[in-house]
Amino acid sequence: MSIVIQVAWLALIASIEIIATQWDRLVRGHVRKVRNLAFTVINHLVIPIATVTVTHLCQPRIGTHWIAGLPVLPGIVLTVVVLDFAGYWFHRFSHRNLFLWRFHQIHHLDEDFDATTGARVHTVEEVMHQIVLIVIAVALGAPSSYFTAFATLAFIMAIFHHCNVAIPWKVERVLRTVVFTPALHVPHHNDDIVNTDTNFGFIFPWWDRMFGSYNTARRTPQWRIGLDYSHDLSLHRLILQPFLPRQLKETATPPTPNTTYETVGQAAVRPEEKTA
Ligand SMILES: [Zn+2]
Repeated sequence: MSIVIQVAWLALIASIEIIATQWDRLVRGHVRKVRNLAFTVINHLVIPIATVTVTHLCQPRIGTHWIAGLPVLPGIVLTVVVLDFAGYWFHRFSHRNLFLWRFHQIHHLDEDFDATTGARVHTVEEVMHQIVLIVIAVALGAPSSYFTAFATLAFIMAIFHHCNVAIPWKVERVLRTVVFTPALHVPHHNDDIVNTDTNFGFIFPWWDRMFGSYNTARRTPQWRIGLDYSHDLSLHRLILQPFLPRQLKETATPPTPNTTYETVGQAAVRPEEKTA
């Protein structure tokens, strides 16, 4: 059921992106989107196996029934809040730790920002992330159905806060008090490190507000999406890059500075990617 909801949500948001686009596309064609979606296909094949395995390994050792003993609604809410809090710190640490960054940079190398960006996470990063969350869920005694509810909500929110949908500013300002919105997450994908290292939240924006990483900078047409030390890579390079001996930052050719970008509509587009 969870997978049906996730696929339906991704299809719905992708459809809305077509009819209510906020920003002109920065990368033309469908290769990029197929590349991004390939990661979520691989992840949805691998993650259930990892989830079941880790749960069975942890349950006898650290398992409790604490959250399972609470009424259902408070139990689910507590599970979602605690795991989102843990996800915030895992994400924030992924920007600091060179080993974790090897995998997390694959998400950030995307040079456009839409729903498929949210689906693009290296499988090893996704496995490590899920292991951390499962260990916490088992230790707190959250039933597996609560964890599934959280995982489904987290995917829905990841697709939502990456989407390229024109949300009225008045609506967005209300939404961002409760959940992470696209306008709030896009600074995290700006190649300016001052913005990249902010807004680490997944579902709730509260942790960034509490721990000093909240950033309300608004995207401009001059913003470049991606990382300042490399262009995006091919699918097989993206999969293999984290395992190469040298960090990508040491070997990549930095993208051309923003001065070569021309403005088309609301977004900056590389000249060779403009449509006639
Ligand atoms: Zn990040």
